[in-house]
Amino acid sequence: MNFYLGIDFGTSGARAIVIDSDNIIQAEAQYSFASISGTDLAGSWRNALFSLIGQIPQEIIKEINAIAINGTSSTVLLCDADGNPLAEPILYNDGRGLAVMAQLKAIAPPNHVVLSATSSLAKLLWLSQNSQVKSKNYYFLHQADWLAFLLHGKPGISDYHNALKLGYNPETLSYPDWLQNLPEISILPQVLAPGTPIAEITVEIANKLGLTRNCLVCAGTTDSIAAFLASGANSPGEAVTSLGSTLVLKLLSYTRVEDIRYGIYSHRLGDLWLTGGASNTGGAVLREFFSDNELECLSRELNPKKESLLDYYPLLKPGERFPINDPNLTPRLEPKPARSVEFLHGLLESIARIEGRGYQLLQELGATRLTHIYTAGGGAKNMTWTAIRARQLQVPILPSAHTAAAYGTALLSKSQLDGLS
Ligand code: ADP
Repeated sequence: MNFYLGIDFGTSGARAIVIDSDNIIQAEAQYSFASISGTDLAGSWRNALFSLIGQIPQEIIKEINAIAINGTSSTVLLCDADGNPLAEPILYNDGRGLAVMAQLKAIAPPNHVVLSATSSLAKLLWLSQNSQVKSKNYYFLHQADWLAFLLHGKPGISDYHNALKLGYNPETLSYPDWLQNLPEISILPQVLAPGTPIAEITVEIANKLGLTRNCLVCAGTTDSIAAFLASGANSPGEAVTSLGSTLVLKLLSYTRVEDIRYGIYSHRLGDLWLTGGASNTGGAVLREFFSDNELECLSRELNPKKESLLDYYPLLKPGERFPINDPNLTPRLEPKPARSVEFLHGLLESIARIEGRGYQLLQELGATRLTHIYTAGGGAKNMTWTAIRARQLQVPILPSAHTAAAYGTALLSKSQLDGLS
């Protein structure tokens, strides 16, 4: 048998999924980060990685051909020449990079995706300014890079999804000149296409975990791209809307679209581009007014064929980036009808309008015309909302084939080996 293992390190936990050559799931394992506390975060990740692989039945483990790992975008760490972490990892949402924004603006081109306090490059410059980058032999790695290193033993290798917010140019497949001139360039990882086999697992890991010696470790990706890959969307014009706490759109396009004002940028996906944006509206606002049970019951009572004329902009607090760029945009949740079902109808309708405006904006900026939308996240199961969205967006809305990022990463580990096995 030929099996492929995808491992997802998300924000609240980690998950592993093994698929076979027909993409059927053969094994799954989960690890919650709830119990992780203390100071050795990288050590906790290592434990999570080995625990996940250890949960996979031995008869499956020994048939695994390839492994890929996804991590949260812009979660980074500094390691020595042997790959040992030199300080605590810096998490995706850590804003300490604010202190180096002036330096960042002086080196990066205007409107570049690295110009954010949480970008990987901002974190690198912060480490450098705080004199933690002391040797040319150090490595600056993303979470996924480091976890893969634990399996293949070669520090200093990344992929162009994780490396986008480090400044890597996925079009020219190189670090741009303005980065090449930085003294820190020597510690930046070599960048491969996601899914590229890097090396076989080390003998030590093979023996420890029961994997075969020739099992390959492949370049990884980020958690949100892995979730897109899992959805089943794969042609230009196909999109995935994530209806989680926030509303996130991703549209597969022939063309690359970038507009930092709206937080829009594109990841390379083979010869295509995955373009997208994230709005602050979404399920978190619904949860402010309704329990999940109420959402389900009240949704069944409303008629999705009829348009609600209530025109809200549901936000938890002022400020929006996409599809309206206004850091002071005030939430609009008035007038509030007496009947809860009407209020919910207005909220679902308004979020669907914002989704529609989002896809319209991506297309106005040059993305390929939208043809289908797959849906992921907690709101995907709401059939009434799906019907409202289909009416607003005028394209077929399909459930995602799979929603687990680990599944998308398992597909990635298989993608370049299909012809070889
Ligand atoms: P995240 O991972 O972003 O926190 P999830 O994908 O787990 O979010 O989705 C959680 C969200 O889904 C909640 O904010 C909740 O309001 C929303 N949700 C849950 N059930 C429903 C439902 N039946 N209809 C619409 N939204 C729902």
